[in-house]
Amino acid sequence: MTVARVALITGANRGIGLEISRQLAAKGLTVVLGARDGAKGKAAAASLDNAKASSVVLDVADGASVTKAVEETIARHGRIDVLVNNAGVMLDRGNPPVTGVLAIPPALLADTLAVNLTGPLRVIQAVLPHMQKAGYGRIVNLSSRMGSLGEMQAGVPMYRISKTALNALTRVAAAELGSGPIKINAMHPGWIKTDMGGPSAPGNVIDAADTAVWLATLADDGPTGGFFFERKPLAW
Ligand code: NAP
Repeated sequence: MTVARVALITGANRGIGLEISRQLAAKGLTVVLGARDGAKGKAAAASLDNAKASSVVLDVADGASVTKAVEETIARHGRIDVLVNNAGVMLDRGNPPVTGVLAIPPALLADTLAVNLTGPLRVIQAVLPHMQKAGYGRIVNLSSRMGSLGEMQAGVPMYRISKTALNALTRVAAAELGSGPIKINAMHPGWIKTDMGGPSAPGNVIDAADTAVWLATLADDGPTGGFFFERKPLAW
C-alpha cells in the first residue's frame, strides 16, 4: 500500500493557497492548511470537503508558531513530504502606500521580510530535517515576477525586494541540497484575482495553483533550483 504524501501549505485559508490545497487534496495528498487564524483555517479545510484535509495554526512571522505547527503536523501524520510556502504580504499598498525606495519605512520592510522571506526560511528550517530523514521532499516557494532582477522596475519596492530575496533563498537552498531527493523551486503564479491581486487581475486561482501543484508533485527526475511560470522556466 502506498502511503499518501502529506503537504503543508502556508497561508492556505484563502486565495491561491486555498486553491493549491484543494488541488493537492484532489490528487490524493493529505493536506494540512496553515492559517494564522485557527477558525479561518478550520473553515478553509472544511470547505475542501475532503476527509483527509485538516488545518493547523501557523503564523510564519512567529518562530514559536512555526515550530508548533510543524510538530502538530508530524504528530498527526508522521511526515511532511511537501511544503508550499504560499503565505505572503504586499505591505507597500497600505495607507499611506509606499511608492518608492526613499519612502520605505525600515520597520515596514522588516515586517514584509518577516512574512515573505524569514517566514519561508523558518518553515523550511523546521520541515527540512523531517524530509531529510524520510529521503523525500518537495518545497515550493510562491515568489513573483516582480522579484525578478532581470525585469526589475519601480513600484511596490518592499514586495519586490522581498521576492528577490526569496528567490535567492531558493537558489542557495537548492545548491546546498544538490541533486538529492529534496527539490526546492520558486514560481510566479501570474497576476491573479485574489485579495492581493485585486479585482482587475486577469488570472484565476485555478490556473495559478497548477504550477504549484506540478512542482509539489515532481517526479524524481524533475527540476530543482528553478523559477517557473505556467510550468515553464522564468528568468531570474
Ligand atoms: P492573499 O489572497 O492576500 O492571501 C495571502 C495569504 O497569506 C492569506 O492566507 C494570509 O492569511 C496569509 N498570510 C499573510 N501573512 C501571514 C503570516 N504572517 N502567517 C501566515 N499566513 C499569512 O494572496 P494571494 O494572492 O493568494 O498570494 C499568495 C502568494 O502568491 C503570495 O506569496 C503572493 O506574494 C504570491 N503572488 C500573488 C500574485 C497575485 O497576483 N495574487 C502574484 C504574484 C505572486 P490571513 O487571511 O490571515 O491574512
